[in-house]
Amino acid sequence: MAEISLYHPYPAAQVATWDYETDVAVIGFGAAGACAAIEAADAGARVMLFERGSGSGGASALSGGEIYIGGGGGSDAQRAAGFEDSTEDFAAYLKAAGGPCADEEKCDLYARESLAHYAWLKSQGVPYRGNYLPGKHIEPTDDSTLIWSGSEAAAPFCDIAKPAPRGHVIAHMGWGGGRPLVDILESRARDLGVDVVSDARAVALVQDGDRVVGVVVRIDNQPRFVKATNGVILCTGGFVFNDEMRRRYCPETFKINSPIGDQDDGSGIELGVGAGGDAIHMDQFFTTCPWTMPEPQAHGVFVNRAGQRFINEDCYHGRVSRCALDQPGEGVYLLLDIAHFDQPLEMAGMTIAGTGDSWEEVEGELGMAPGTLSATMAFYNVHAREGRDPLFDKKPPILTPLDQGPFVALELNFATSYFSFFTLGGLRTSTDGEVMGRDGKPVSGLFAAGRCTSGLPAWGHGYSSGFSLADCTFFGRQAGRKAAAG
Ligand SMILES: Cc1cc2nc3c(=O)[nH]c(=O)nc-3n(C[C@H](O)[C@H](O)[C@H](O)COP(=O)(O)OP(=O)(O)OC[C@H]3O[C@@H](n4cnc5c(N)ncnc54)[C@H](O)[C@@H]3O)c2cc1C
Repeated sequence: MAEISLYHPYPAAQVATWDYETDVAVIGFGAAGACAAIEAADAGARVMLFERGSGSGGASALSGGEIYIGGGGGSDAQRAAGFEDSTEDFAAYLKAAGGPCADEEKCDLYARESLAHYAWLKSQGVPYRGNYLPGKHIEPTDDSTLIWSGSEAAAPFCDIAKPAPRGHVIAHMGWGGGRPLVDILESRARDLGVDVVSDARAVALVQDGDRVVGVVVRIDNQPRFVKATNGVILCTGGFVFNDEMRRRYCPETFKINSPIGDQDDGSGIELGVGAGGDAIHMDQFFTTCPWTMPEPQAHGVFVNRAGQRFINEDCYHGRVSRCALDQPGEGVYLLLDIAHFDQPLEMAGMTIAGTGDSWEEVEGELGMAPGTLSATMAFYNVHAREGRDPLFDKKPPILTPLDQGPFVALELNFATSYFSFFTLGGLRTSTDGEVMGRDGKPVSGLFAAGRCTSGLPAWGHGYSSGFSLADCTFFGRQAGRKAAAG
């Protein structure tokens, strides 16, 4: 018997008996897997879904259930709130937010199809209240639909694409809309006859020549051989809980300490690479520290250890946090005056590092050279009073002078503050979810979607809330349809 391994496929010729036979085998029951299974079953394929846990969920069920949607003139919620959103602006934002890692074809396709995808989600039973919640929110605290969830209104993005809020959140009271989102998708998949096998971990692909023809799953500690005539779809999530992979591909994440997700161990990426797939943007990750809560803190100014600003702070909290990590030393400071100070969230682990009746005093308490932080704040305040930020183009109303003493510097320490993070790199896929080989051609019979791939949320510095679930649900569907077609 050949070795069963994540790192190289099992030869089909050595499979003595197939334990299961199906058209499409989906691996992983988060949002990507659920959507892939629904579309494949809807297209008439026999679908089996293997999940290593005892039920559906993954990181998707832990999420806020927020999906990035727009274009086509605007969704019902966008239009009701007075926002027009052209497909061109939507695509331009997706590309800008993808930075050097953007997959332009995926951005264009999703921008064109996003409203149809929103309609599809609704037709699966995902409820949306349809209203707009103004302001800056990480997730709505009520059951509102539409929020600003990225850097749309901040430079440089607002100069590239007309700003519109695009974070669409499932109707669910408070944070945590991911669980009901997955429950709805699960029930739809089961209604369509998807055969769900839980406590079943994929441990190897099966290849016949160059074609993936099945998968080996471990059930009750026994290898079971699954023949998948049309193909296997990997939907296994990222690798944030695999220290070895992080060390190899994404070592910057060791500066921070709060991985989030559901055991994302990178197994799908390893399976895909073992079968000849290419893995790209493996160094990219999302991170954020919840520094915009309570809300007055969103008006603060960030400086690094040298007392220098490094970002327009009206960007998405995740972009600011990711740029903070690029700064030298162990952390950065959030500067506030008494008009904008409130007790920071305990979970954020942000602590008071310096106070004073002037910015010079704060500078001294932080041990910075005279004329560094104080000069930064003098320059900032002079221009903020005129409604300008000549250095970083931060915009009103977040741009306000911080000139009412006493003053405070809160430290966001990379090692001890709460910087949550998950990985963004993964298998390279076509817009149809085919895993692309290192030779530039699709790996026959192998598909993938969600965070085991590199998709819309490709660049940590540009991530916007809702990108990942948009990518998982939409490109999961693409993979399901393509695999069903054989
Ligand atoms: C707290 C939190 C909040 C978030 N909020 C949002 C948000 O509001 N909007 C947004 O866009 N993104 C959000 N994200 C990110 C987003 O939730 C994830 O990136 C996304 O859900 C990943 O979906 P997925 O289907 O690729 O993987 P997952 O949902 O993680 O599903 C993967 C599944 O595969 C299974 N699996 C893994 N390996 C195997 C194997 N070898 N064999 C069998 N099964 C396997 C896992 O058990 C899991 O069930 C959030 C993340 C977190 C942690």
